[in-house]
Formats: sequence, structure tokens, C-alpha cells
Amino acid sequence: MKYVFKNAMVLTMNNDELLESCDVLVENDQISAVGSLNNEQINNARVIDASGKLLMPGLINAHCHVPMTLLRNYADDLNLQTWLFDHIFPVEERLQGEDIYYGSLLGIMEMIASGTTCFIDMYDHMDDLARAVEESGIRAQLSRGMMNTGSGPDFSEDARLNESIDFYKKWNGAANGRITGAFAPHAIYTCSPAYIRTIVETAQKYDAPIHVHLDETLTEHEDCLKKYGKTPTKHLLDLGVFEQKTVAAHCVWITEDDARILADKKVTMAHNPSSNLKLASGIAPVPKALSMGVNVALGTDGASSNNNLNMFEEIHLAALIHKGTNRDPLLINAMESLKMATLNGATALGMDNMGVIKEGAKADVILIDMDKPHLMPIHNIVSALAYSVQASDVCLTMVDGVILYENGEFKTIDKEKVIHGIKKCYERIFQ
Ligand SMILES: [Zn+2]
Repeated sequence: MKYVFKNAMVLTMNNDELLESCDVLVENDQISAVGSLNNEQINNARVIDASGKLLMPGLINAHCHVPMTLLRNYADDLNLQTWLFDHIFPVEERLQGEDIYYGSLLGIMEMIASGTTCFIDMYDHMDDLARAVEESGIRAQLSRGMMNTGSGPDFSEDARLNESIDFYKKWNGAANGRITGAFAPHAIYTCSPAYIRTIVETAQKYDAPIHVHLDETLTEHEDCLKKYGKTPTKHLLDLGVFEQKTVAAHCVWITEDDARILADKKVTMAHNPSSNLKLASGIAPVPKALSMGVNVALGTDGASSNNNLNMFEEIHLAALIHKGTNRDPLLINAMESLKMATLNGATALGMDNMGVIKEGAKADVILIDMDKPHLMPIHNIVSALAYSVQASDVCLTMVDGVILYENGEFKTIDKEKVIHGIKKCYERIFQ
């Protein structure tokens, strides 16, 4: 299929370039031209009038647990340990494949309606999650979250590890490459060192990336110092985790030395401002990490600790909270915050042809209706995107050259079927 976005304002995210009125040609899964197009290029394309609208790369959610939409507003105003161990884990024990499938589709609907084109996720019942990704048309890096059950040192019979391997073999590169796999030791407080080492060896065998929670709370940080005599970051470094391409979620309590390690090892720090604020985990030292060369991407975390999957809200918060807590209005400007949600997310995935509008890039793009009272007058588009845009201003979302959402309509997901499915799951799990 061939599309032309005609007369769009384009924020390319390529050297902060902003094009005032421009045509963008999409052929198959790629952007094939940016600029004025000739008749031959436009021939046989569907022309989308984008005047008054802004085209930009789709947002990349670097840390999520998408099926947790089912637990949205279920257990709030609690600290992380109580929330997770007393409320979330017991319900998660009861979840079945169908719950994961519908919970994922619900989350994916929310994501594509708010401009997210790709997400990095760890959860359980991954075949059902991957099926939702495959059918919906969104892009995702997926991994089965692993926690220790056996004591080791031999984990060859470990069910979670074996599921992870089977999942990786089955789904990595699936759906025209939209789905990629990873290995996910949940966290240092749920995985023993021997278990993490085994997971790393497995990831090495498949040349696969790693997705892990890291240094989310002060409790995790202090317990690690007590138990292992080092910080959580140093602990994972010594276990070899960072030899693989790694996305480390949170990193709220990292030290300056830890940030140096993350920068040296090219680990992506997934910053989740809403989740960290809601669970009162703290505020990650993002300005420091960025200044030391760490790749910082943005994530929502699951919908039960956020309680939505709205990346524009994360962009907004990321651009505000570091200013406020450091009493420095120059920290994390609008463009830096937008980069975290686009380019840096693509870097986290090792995809330099994503998170940017340029010839040859993946056609993962969104269109934003700028013709709204709360966006006028448009003095500065970048500021408008970070500080004024609402997720509901997204009017079109395209992934891999396919339109998934346009003017309030889901093109690949049957909304009524998902709502019906969610109601059934909700009744079975909670009533
Ligand atoms: Zn998480």
C-alpha cells in the first residue's frame, strides 16, 4: 500500500528538523520520500490531507506490562512492596491466556489511540500477548518475566526459563519483524544471582537482549548493599547482564558510578515518571544520567501503577519533574523529553531506522491534529508537543506502513469484541 501525507508539518527528530509544509511518501513498510513529490510518486497512492496537522515518529514505550490494564485502578495508594506482593501477584496467579489476550488488546487500543507505535514489555502467558500484538499490527519487543522458583544451580528444568526460550524461538522476528524477543530476569529481589547468570548465558546463546527492573526503590537499593555489598547496578554488571543489549527499567536510586557503568555498557535506562511518582519510589536522576551519556528512554510501566498507557503524559512529566525537584528550569527541555520517547526508544531496541522521519526509515508515524484551542497559537511546535498536546489529539497512527487508527476508528481491532472480552475476564477474575 502507498500513502502520501500532503502538506504536513513534520517534526523529523532528525537533528531537531521541523518542516513547515511537506509531503511524506510511504511505500509498504517504509518512508520512501520526504519533501515535494512529483506526480509519478503520488500515482496510485492514497493521499491524506495533513494540512493543519503534524506528522512525527510514533512514540516508543520502553517499559510496559500491557496486560495489566486488567488491574487498572485495582490497588492504588500503596507502596511498591505491599502493592506488588499483597495485591498484584495474588491476582496475577489467577490470570489465564484469555485474560492476557484481551488485556493486551485493550492496552494496545489505548496505545495506538494515543500515538504509541512500539512497546517493550515483560509479562506472562506470552503467546497470548504476542497474538494480540500480531493481530493489532503494533510493534513490540516481548519477554517472559522470570522469577526464581528452584534454588539451582541447575535451572534446566525451570518452567519460566524454558517458556522464555520457547517463546523467543517461536516469536523473535515474527509478524514481518514487528515482534522481537528478549529475556527478562524480573529484578534482583525476585531472582537469585545463579538464576540471573543462567538467564544471561541463555540470552548469550541466542544473542538476545535483556529487559530487567533495576534499582526501583530505596529498599531494593539498601537490601542489595546489605546482601551483596554493592549497588544493584554493580550486582547486575558482575553477573554479566550488561554484556547483552539491556533495557533497565526505573534506575531511580543509581549512583554516579552506576550511571557511568550504564553509559559504558550502553544500557538503556527506561524512565517511568508516573509509576515512580505513584508508588513513591522516588525520582530517577535523569539529567545526571543524560549528561553522563546514558541512553534514557521513556515508559509508562503497567497500567496498574500509572494508571494509563499515555506516553504524552510521560513526556510532559519527564519535562517537568526534574525542573521542579532540582529547582532548575533548564533541565530536560521539551526536545530532550520528546527524544526520550522516540529516538532513544529506537536506540534501546538497536533500530536506527525508527524514531525518525527520513527516507528509508520504518513507516511508524503518527499524525496530530494541531487545530485545537489548547494548542493555539503555535509559537513553538516542540513546546506544544511536550507541554500542551493531549493524547486525544492523535488522529492517525501507522505502524509498518499500515494505518491502525484513524479519526477515532480502530482499523485492525474489533473494539466491541475487546470490550465484551474484557467484561467477561473481569467478572471471572474479580467477582
Ligand atoms: Zn515494570
